[in-house]
Amino acid sequence: MTIEEGLARGWDQFDVILVTGDCYVDHPSFGVAVVGRYLESLGLRVGVIASPDPENLDDFTKLGRPTLFFGVTAGNLDSMIMRHTALKKPRSDDAYADGGKAGRRPARASMVYCNRIRQAFSNAPVLIGGLEASLRRFAHYDYWSDKVRRSILPDSKADLLIYGMAEQALASVVAGLRDGKTLKELKDIRGTAVMVSKDERKEIAEKTVTIPSFEEVVSNKNKYAKASKSIHLNQYPHSALTLLQKHGGRYVRVNPPSLPLATEEIDKIYSLPFTRNPHPSHKGPIPAFEMIRFSVTAMRGCFGGCSFCALTVHQGRAIQSRSEDSILEEVSQITHSDGFKGYISDIGGPTANMYRLVCGEPAVEAVCRRTSCVYPITCKRLVTDHTPQLSVLRKARSIKGVKKVFIASGVRYDLANNSPEYIRELASHHVSGQLKVAPEHCDPDTLALMRKPPIESYDRFIESFLRESKKAGLEQYVIPYFISGHPGCGLTAEVEMARYLKRKNLKPRQIQDFIPAPMTLAADMYYSGIDPISGRPVETDKDGGARRLHRALLQYYKPENQDHVRQALRRVGRTDLIGNGPEKLVKEKSYRRK
Ligand code: SF4
Repeated sequence: MTIEEGLARGWDQFDVILVTGDCYVDHPSFGVAVVGRYLESLGLRVGVIASPDPENLDDFTKLGRPTLFFGVTAGNLDSMIMRHTALKKPRSDDAYADGGKAGRRPARASMVYCNRIRQAFSNAPVLIGGLEASLRRFAHYDYWSDKVRRSILPDSKADLLIYGMAEQALASVVAGLRDGKTLKELKDIRGTAVMVSKDERKEIAEKTVTIPSFEEVVSNKNKYAKASKSIHLNQYPHSALTLLQKHGGRYVRVNPPSLPLATEEIDKIYSLPFTRNPHPSHKGPIPAFEMIRFSVTAMRGCFGGCSFCALTVHQGRAIQSRSEDSILEEVSQITHSDGFKGYISDIGGPTANMYRLVCGEPAVEAVCRRTSCVYPITCKRLVTDHTPQLSVLRKARSIKGVKKVFIASGVRYDLANNSPEYIRELASHHVSGQLKVAPEHCDPDTLALMRKPPIESYDRFIESFLRESKKAGLEQYVIPYFISGHPGCGLTAEVEMARYLKRKNLKPRQIQDFIPAPMTLAADMYYSGIDPISGRPVETDKDGGARRLHRALLQYYKPENQDHVRQALRRVGRTDLIGNGPEKLVKEKSYRRK
């Protein structure tokens, strides 16, 4: 992170300089650390500019000009999501910032950083990547400006965009540059997007799909939904085609996603020499680091296809699992870390129990275009055997120095229901008293738009989990997570949600107000009013007042929400739920003075 650190390693210049909106934490849960260590393993000299002050050009010039390229990312998350609440209010905290305080990360950080680099080094090659670039690779609905924006590629003026998990694409980019090509000349690498001219478009040899242009999607919601459908049906690396989207006189060319890494390849990445600590220049606690410090990533990807989730869009639907040995080796290493008290906080990934779950028929997988392997029902070709996960967990908890191994990643309960043994072990060994599960809603129509399993599946799982906890002599609870105001969820459905919570005696402490993350199916429903896959209309309550009513219903029991709940119930003609009695959600308003 400094010239001095480079010189101490005998480097008088860097080959690649990574610029990130996060603090630098040399831990495999942080994208820049993985990318930096990976590039280093390819023999490159890598510098990092972490959390630069966007107003200070010196922050961008302090490491000089790299011989190959600047690699820019907003950080682990999208900068607009990091900076704002669901109601678009500024956040005061930033989990990836020094001391956890917001303020340093600019809005649309990838674009701001690219601009500063161009100011300092006018023609330096720039590559963008990370979640923000991934989600914004096509023309997309941007909730924060409430408009359809162009692809981030022409707007940032970067030479190349890497989407998804970057290693494979980076290896090809580095090989191309070593062959004397420029970033702009690397047009056909999987997992990347580039700008091409009309003539270059004609020269593309492989099969392509031209989706509605930026100009079309910005003015026509049907075209927007059509583009969204093509994008979402072309996410699976084995079957995806190259997509082209016209922006003015040029095209954004998005090549098919990178192929899944083989186990040996992913093992190599996680065996790189991470120090597992933040850079010493960071003084305050970094909340995201504190949370994942003693956790282990077992796999990447998620085939759930939940429509509101940006992870599937970024990491992809194919599960890429590490070997058992590689995971256990990391657990052993952690036991020697400073401050480790015997508790592994997580062994998981985007979803806890998808370790080693794969498509059982590669020939069908090669042409499969489903957006989920588990929705509307679990595909019969999906291997759902939980034995490999159980084996890893059993061995991990028997490692010397390990007192407990927790599962903090979300459990996919419809899959877990297939394995009573998994639920038994989860309840008996891997929960710290409270298990977080995300049914998200109970209304069947809303769940269908979310691409989530029916609530009965959640109920069944909870029953089994509590039964097994009791058998193990443990008093454990389930903390359910719900989303309010999802597209297609009207107030009537939200009332049913509140009634479900009352029936089950659930008082969710945290409610996630729906945030339309760019490029997710749900964001596309929210904007276009159409479910892109089915073509059916979808209505959404968008104004702040209505969204407050949605949220209040899911926490109907809170005294401060009572007025809103009564208002919501009157709006949908359910005044029968106001008054006294076990079926009622709120009491009549009392005007008596205290
Ligand atoms: S398991 Fe089914 S849905 Fe998933 S990739 Fe294989 S065939 Fe497609």
